[in-house]
Amino acid sequence: MSLHTEQSAVTVLGLGPMGRALAGAFLDAGLRTTVWNRTPGRDQELVARGAISARSAEEAAAASRLTVVCVVNYDAADTILRREAVTDALKGRAVVNLTADTPDRARDAAAWAAEHGVRYLDGAIMTPTPTIGTPAAVFIHSGPKDLYDEHQSVLEALGGTHTHLGEEIGRAAAYDIALLDIFWTSMAGYAHALAVARAEGITARELAPFAKGIGDILPPIFEGLAEEVDHGTFSGEGNPLTSAASSMTHIVHTSEAHGIDASVMRGAEGMARRAIGLGHGTDGFMRVTELLGRR
Ligand code: NDP
Repeated sequence: MSLHTEQSAVTVLGLGPMGRALAGAFLDAGLRTTVWNRTPGRDQELVARGAISARSAEEAAAASRLTVVCVVNYDAADTILRREAVTDALKGRAVVNLTADTPDRARDAAAWAAEHGVRYLDGAIMTPTPTIGTPAAVFIHSGPKDLYDEHQSVLEALGGTHTHLGEEIGRAAAYDIALLDIFWTSMAGYAHALAVARAEGITARELAPFAKGIGDILPPIFEGLAEEVDHGTFSGEGNPLTSAASSMTHIVHTSEAHGIDASVMRGAEGMARRAIGLGHGTDGFMRVTELLGRR
């Protein structure tokens, strides 16, 4: 095998919607792509496009210097990688685990990899499958920088932006968790808002353009508050906690008057009231970041 072929070869373990998108992008970029999935048959379209179908995970791992893993969670990834034959095949090779899970699971996987001579990077994908292979894709990575540099060009075949966040292996998963926290609490808020709106005779379609307006307010707020939170100053100028809590109470009352569970909003209101009780009523809502971890 020529050096060129070796360097432009990649293996993808896991062919769910995301694994298939990753393998497809590698193929489009002209890389020799070997694929494997626990349930056979998921690789048919990829094989038609030129992928090599491995009969086993160990055969797939042995086919490339770099193996990308993308399965449902680390229990699944561990089941694949920690089987002796697969671990043996990966010895001295690189794994980039793009499976989502917790920072501690990434750290545990890195310890296992170090013990078995597997070169290990962790990563997370922050955008949905249609973005893969396009400029809109967002990938974050963490782990040894030299290993990242070595495989950066192959990873960049996935399109979009790739950011190495640092050597600490749990860092990409930590960013992923924080960012998904924003996403899922926002989705919970939107679902709740739609339920309250519907109870008041407003359709989701009617609300949508105004909901977008609220969404548009958020990015500058995120940027503006970053400095405050990092410096521990929580200015309530323009919207003190007392006013924010009052607005949240109106939402709780309207919601519960319709018999709609208001526990998500009650959680936020409770945080605000607690901060006020501790004497922070004139501060801004972000004061709660400081109090959340305190008992
Ligand atoms: P899933 O999260 O549903 O993962 C499906 C894959 O996991 C399949 O390959 C499946 O194999 C495999 N799998 C599940 N259990 C096991 C097991 N016990 N042993 C071996 N393999 C197993 O779908 P996605 O492909 O969408 O997601 C993969 C990862 O990408 C997840 O961590 C997800 O959070 C992340 N991600 C996905 C995004 C998306 O838009 N889909 C966006 C950003 C991140 P089988 O076919 O045999 O069941």
